[in-house]
Amino acid sequence: MNYDLIVDKFDREHLWHPYTSTVDPLPTYKVKSAEGCIITLEDGTRLIDGMSSWWCAVHGYNHPCLNKAVEEQLHRMSHVMFGGLTHEPAIALGKLLLGLVPPSMNHIFYADSGSVAVEVALKMAVQYQFASGHPEKNNFVTIRSGYHGDTWNAMSVCDPVTGMHSLFGPALPVRYFAPSPQCRFGAEWDECDIQPLEEIIVQHHRELAGLILEPIVQGAGGMRFYHPQYLREAARLCRQYGLLLVFDEIATGFGRTGKLFAWEHAGVEPDIMCIGKALTGGYMTFSAVLANKEVAGCISSHYPNAFMHGPTFMGNPLACAVAKASVELLLSSGWQEKVRSIESQLKKELAPAASLPQVADVRVLGAIGVIEMKKPVDMAWMQRRFVEEGIWVRPFGKLVYIMPPFIIRPDELSRLTAALVKIVKETE
Ligand SMILES: *Cc1c(COP(=O)(O)O)cnc(C)c1O
Repeated sequence: MNYDLIVDKFDREHLWHPYTSTVDPLPTYKVKSAEGCIITLEDGTRLIDGMSSWWCAVHGYNHPCLNKAVEEQLHRMSHVMFGGLTHEPAIALGKLLLGLVPPSMNHIFYADSGSVAVEVALKMAVQYQFASGHPEKNNFVTIRSGYHGDTWNAMSVCDPVTGMHSLFGPALPVRYFAPSPQCRFGAEWDECDIQPLEEIIVQHHRELAGLILEPIVQGAGGMRFYHPQYLREAARLCRQYGLLLVFDEIATGFGRTGKLFAWEHAGVEPDIMCIGKALTGGYMTFSAVLANKEVAGCISSHYPNAFMHGPTFMGNPLACAVAKASVELLLSSGWQEKVRSIESQLKKELAPAASLPQVADVRVLGAIGVIEMKKPVDMAWMQRRFVEEGIWVRPFGKLVYIMPPFIIRPDELSRLTAALVKIVKETE
């Protein structure tokens, strides 16, 4: 590898990267191009992508169908305001989405990013309670090990430890946290698992607008897969105590867990649902918040008779056009078969890691493979070793995990998992 080409001095001195020091930054690798599931660095080094650029690029990179959708829309208009105007890309995407999400979802709010979708969902829940005569129901309960984004209120419902709540002190709204579900996906249900959440809801429901959680798969907050019965019990409690149920499907949506959306594992419909990430196939930032008739109707028929949110780039036509192309591509791609075969290959090829002394747990669901280490990894070292082995994987804390593009070939996936297990073996 030619590090003079891969490492950029200006970048190192002036550009902030996610969760990265400006004084002593971890190395960043300069990318020249990306195609299919190969990321090519500036010096020609080719990396097999294990991350789908944080859950997004389910079709891989530089896809002709998605390129075409953006280009065609670009020549019509890249953007017009959504206040007082509408357009075909927003309408066509809306029609497509409503056929795929829980049947009770009836209204769509387009937003700019996952975190903004979570902000919108939380505001929606509070405004719903206000409209239904319960302004005092304005707080939230969630489960530990969650991740919902980095903006203010999204952060307030992230896991308090990994989300660094101590750092922000009283500036951060204080939420109620139940322990993360203990019953694993695929294991036996233990009814004690819901008790802590039940206790919080019984005690505090008078001040709770809703429960927000990631259904089935907790992503960046811990990469945990939990039992569908937890969602059924949680939904029952929400109904009983007048809480809205908010599902954050930003990471789980669009096939990643083996179902098109993770709620399908439990058959539980939320009142409000956030989608994002793979919505545009990784082409640009975009998200949507879906709500049922009751939520949208109640908000709209009480003062101030409108939901009080409206981002500048709401319903961006370029994003809508590429989202529609990406969802159509997904639906016609045989994604279920692909995700199933990625799942069985991951199970087989990651299994040898389970017996390593460094490894605490190995788990796979859909196109997600997780190796949980006993100790936090040396990220800079591990990242470099992965690049040397020709794969792109970004671990965090004790978690070394992959969620490759669905288009990955079996031989590419084998090289990815082989390199992963090899480097995990090299750790202390
Ligand atoms: C990534 C993520 C978010 C935040 O999305 P951004 O687009 O990064 O703002 C919210 N919720 C979940 C579950 C996520 O995985």
